[in-house]
Amino acid sequence: MSVIVLVEHTAGTIKKKSLEAVQYASEIAKKLGTTATAVIAGKVEETELKNLGGYGAQKVLYVADDRLNELHARAFTRVLVAAAKQENSPIIVALHDVNGRAIAPRVAIQLKAGLISGALSYPDTDKGFIVKKSAFSGKAFAFVNVNSDVKVILLAPNSFPLVKADGEAVIENFNVSFEDKDFGIKVKSVDVITGEVPLSDAELVVSGGRGMKGPENWGLIEDLAHALGAATACSRPVADSGWRPHHEHVGQTGGTIRPNLYIAAGISGAIQHLAGVSGSKTIVVINKDPEAPFFKAANYGIVGDVMEVLPRLTEAVKKFKA
Ligand code: FAD
Repeated sequence: MSVIVLVEHTAGTIKKKSLEAVQYASEIAKKLGTTATAVIAGKVEETELKNLGGYGAQKVLYVADDRLNELHARAFTRVLVAAAKQENSPIIVALHDVNGRAIAPRVAIQLKAGLISGALSYPDTDKGFIVKKSAFSGKAFAFVNVNSDVKVILLAPNSFPLVKADGEAVIENFNVSFEDKDFGIKVKSVDVITGEVPLSDAELVVSGGRGMKGPENWGLIEDLAHALGAATACSRPVADSGWRPHHEHVGQTGGTIRPNLYIAAGISGAIQHLAGVSGSKTIVVINKDPEAPFFKAANYGIVGDVMEVLPRLTEAVKKFKA
């Protein structure tokens, strides 16, 4: 018996949030007196696979099939169901992201498992199997009790700090027979999003809203992000207006991030925006309107004009780092 965890990678590099999922699965496994097994598919180097041992995976089930470098939900479902059966797994962990949300419900149906999405805590097994998750776009928490024999958990990324230990995982080649229909969706092209720091993995994020007035002022956001080593993000109207690319838009209809630091410049703090950022450890809000709703969610607030405050912050960060 082991807890299994689906691991994602980008062109062979394992995603940081997947390392967190491995660590999460391994902590649950320890609690149950068992081990964690990582499941990964596509083209990944051996060293990268072994490295999963440092995050608590004793074993890696590796499906060496290049077709699985892309998301094929049916094929990945087949992989996870086969792995869960082989390992007699009571718990299957994946990430609460686009991939996890496409695969986990299919796995849950096939294994007759209960599904907990957006998990923020380890399960409390004293009175059942209770996991904390966010509800109402981050305005509240729900505590979900699942009583099925098998459970599928989608972990909300950036919920736990990552700690690497020594250790190498044992790699086992895992063969799964697929059908053509498992690859029924054809990926026509992939946009590789470049940037100094990928937003989903970023510990520090500088974000701009309509208060930035226009794309010509985005240099102020980028300068601060560059000085901090941060990623950049934006509110939805900013992306809708074409000031910034859509992959930077965070919120209910955009990405969900949980960085250690989120600096919001010229963003009002609408509930739909907060839905994507309220899990940030520290929120700093810069807004010229002292009544802006975002100040209620902020740890630190600066009432002022972004055009003046941002350059001064950038200067201060540069001085501090010098
Ligand atoms: P505004 O609301 O226009 O706020 C601009 C802020 O900048 C104001 O608070 C103003 O005081 C301040 N400001 C202006 N000038 C300056 C200056 N010089 N210096 C300092 N501050 C200044 N929004 C999202 O962001 N993400 C989502 O995922 C999302 N999903 C949505 C889903 C639905 C179904 C709906 C209905 C809406 C959604 N929205 C989303 C939109 C959301 O409701 C808000 O309209 C949006 O977040 C507002 O963006 P903003 O704060 O940049 O702009």
